[in-house]
Amino acid sequence: MGRAFKVVVLGGGTAAGYAASEFVKLGVHHGDLCIISEESVAPYERPALSKGYLLIEGAAWLPAFHTCVGTGEERHMTKWYKDNGIELVLGTQVKAADVRARTLLTAAGETISYKFLVIATGARVLKLEEFGVTGADAHNVCYLRDVQDAAHLVDQMAACRKVEGKAVVIGGGYIGMECAAALHGNHIPVTMVFPEHHCMARLFTPEIAAFYETYYGKKGVHFIKGNVMASFEQDEFGKVTTVVLKDGRKIAVDLVVVGIGIHPNVDLFEGQLAMEKGGIRVDGKMRSVSNHSVYAVGDVAAFPLKMYDDVRRLEHVDHARKSAAHAVQAIMSSNEVGDYDYLPYFYSRVFTLSWQFYGENVGECILFGDHSASKFGAFWVHKGQLVGAFLEGGSKAEYAALARAARQRPTVDDTRLLAMEGMGFAMALTEPVPPRVSLMSSIATADGHLFLTRPPSWAIQVGAGVAVGVAFVSLAFWYGRRKKRR
Ligand code: FAD
Repeated sequence: MGRAFKVVVLGGGTAAGYAASEFVKLGVHHGDLCIISEESVAPYERPALSKGYLLIEGAAWLPAFHTCVGTGEERHMTKWYKDNGIELVLGTQVKAADVRARTLLTAAGETISYKFLVIATGARVLKLEEFGVTGADAHNVCYLRDVQDAAHLVDQMAACRKVEGKAVVIGGGYIGMECAAALHGNHIPVTMVFPEHHCMARLFTPEIAAFYETYYGKKGVHFIKGNVMASFEQDEFGKVTTVVLKDGRKIAVDLVVVGIGIHPNVDLFEGQLAMEKGGIRVDGKMRSVSNHSVYAVGDVAAFPLKMYDDVRRLEHVDHARKSAAHAVQAIMSSNEVGDYDYLPYFYSRVFTLSWQFYGENVGECILFGDHSASKFGAFWVHKGQLVGAFLEGGSKAEYAALARAARQRPTVDDTRLLAMEGMGFAMALTEPVPPRVSLMSSIATADGHLFLTRPPSWAIQVGAGVAVGVAFVSLAFWYGRRKKRR
């Protein structure tokens, strides 16, 4: 016999941390909630691993980035879980699940049962071995998914620096780009190798990518595009010394960092729950469509993206946080919770650069701004509507404006004008909408107030001025006639 809980969260990553926070906010009873995690530390903000964690000076290591610091909330360490009556079962892998019996079996042989299960198992990295590359398990070949990987990478960067060695990054996505920036920051010369024609190919257009590639290039990062690695050469100690490319080229290397994608961790539930797009298919409450005692959040959830009327699976932290909170609200008070209505949001920070993207990158891409001043952006216009917005080097207010624009999806009649207006277009959309009151009714209010409480637009000001003038003339006319009658 094992333990039983009202709710078990399987996985102890970013989504789990935000789920715990929401459960506490909504008053979960002590002893009702259990979190089971393979990792030996309390949930943390995973994006920190490729950013602050890898800095050579002033690095941010745990416990600095436990959830929920990523959204400016409190940092929850193991004591917080204890104080809130949450059973945090760390260093424990779940080996099997039976969703009909509502049980999980841990590697230690314990059976843990639940009334509700929240699957927050995230993803694991794709390994080069899966593509038949031998030698990819060498100690100087690094991946980056958890804090252990990050600690190993830090050690390997130190070893590489010691021999004044060089690094190769395999993969041109955001992990590759962020790791390349970190390697450069650690004074390690870097070459990036990827099969696409430009970096961040899933999101960036060639023009946007060119800005970042030029920036990296000026720092000394070398790009080999449209090529893949074929094999490694190793020395007698098993250290990888050479990366051999498909076209036969060889690159001498002391450290290899691999960022070629991820697999969602859904294997335990294959054949038990409905799957779609590589993830667990859930409804708008993040509840499995095939088993109503099971919820899935974060990287593993294939959920209805309401605004696009489509099912998506997203591997981004903002969605992990929000989907977790939404599932918890549904569990705690299902009748009051509507459907998850998510606006896709991605971001990255490299060197002193920082970008954000909202919506989706389909249709025509309209660039705006000044690339040379590191402040530029892009809108995507699809079927006459603005559907996606990207900005490098924006302010908080500008990013908020982009988010609103991507959410509102305004009609775009003239894309040339849109390019000229750039951020101005999005900022104008965020102006507070004046109350729909007529000028006359506002002048004729019972308490006699002539001015609107919100700052009036020029039209209202002119109108008000004319009205005051007319009122004044009328008053003078009436007064004059009264005087004449006397
Ligand atoms: P995870 O955070 O991966 O958590 C999954 C947890 O489940 C882990 O603790 C894992 O050990 C545990 N687990 C899995 N299987 C089992 C099992 N069988 N038994 C017990 N425990 C199990 N996104 C952005 O939007 N912007 C970024 O800048 C960004 N940077 C990133 C940088 C890095 C290095 C990484 C790795 C990811 C980054 N992401 C970023 C993506 C983001 O971190 C993820 O989308 C997010 O962490 C997903 O949260 P999750 O809880 O679903 O999964």
